[in-house]
Amino acid sequence: MRIAIPVADAHAHASPLGLGASRISKKFKEHGGWFMALVSLPPQHYGLPQTLEGAIKAIELHLKQCDEARRAGIKVACIGGIHPAFVDHLIKRSSGKSLNIVSFIQENVMEFLAKMIDEGKLQGIGEFGRPHYKTIPESFAANDALLLTALEVIRDHGGVLHLHLEQGGQITVESVEVMVKSLGVRNTKSVVLHHATTGMALQACEKGLSATVTGRSEVLAQAKRLNALCVEAESDYIDDPKRPGVVMYPWKIAESVNELLGTNAEFYEFLYRVMVDNITDVYGVEPP
Ligand SMILES: [Zn+2]
Repeated sequence: MRIAIPVADAHAHASPLGLGASRISKKFKEHGGWFMALVSLPPQHYGLPQTLEGAIKAIELHLKQCDEARRAGIKVACIGGIHPAFVDHLIKRSSGKSLNIVSFIQENVMEFLAKMIDEGKLQGIGEFGRPHYKTIPESFAANDALLLTALEVIRDHGGVLHLHLEQGGQITVESVEVMVKSLGVRNTKSVVLHHATTGMALQACEKGLSATVTGRSEVLAQAKRLNALCVEAESDYIDDPKRPGVVMYPWKIAESVNELLGTNAEFYEFLYRVMVDNITDVYGVEPP
């Protein structure tokens, strides 16, 4: 496929039980892909036990997936963490011992993640944040505590933070802004609101944060209409053989770009910003 703009996927997953990072990256590259932010999955997606130890093993396995993607010839930001839904799962199973879970993650996982950033093995951490569905209040308390720690990690060690949050519009964006400000995170654009609505993305941009929106043509067109200039496009591909193509294949972003450029040449500038400039800005990677 011929494409006028190099294509970036700012949030995707890969698992050896699915297509795997190597095949995904090769196919993405064939479609004009140059950059991918690859985010670790909860342990069960890799066939690992649903325990804290499993979650740490999942991050280690993910580092290898990132290496595979790099070998396939694309630039990769490797992002590792413990998903808020997995924290929710641990809290519900722990029946009241949630404090142990938070401090265990802070002492074992967050320190490990910080070390991986220092060693250049991770370029960021995530997903952290809050479940997007209703659950027990203890789960929100634990996840918010971890979200604060995650912000401290990127403040002190660098790298980006991918946030998985409720789609609560202004409340969601402002809650992040307050945390970022009160912790003194200076590089605010390294805080990425993943899976944002275009409206939330616009608010995030206005506050100096970053946001990813689904890489579908209608969503990108809407982001342009709103002038949400800080956005990046994501496939949020989960690479689960039981749910093929969910949320979308990374190479479908290339199709969206072509579709928009075909209908209106005015999209060029906006899409170049989304696919190249914003990625360079947030991840410090050189464009192709
Ligand atoms: Zn994701």
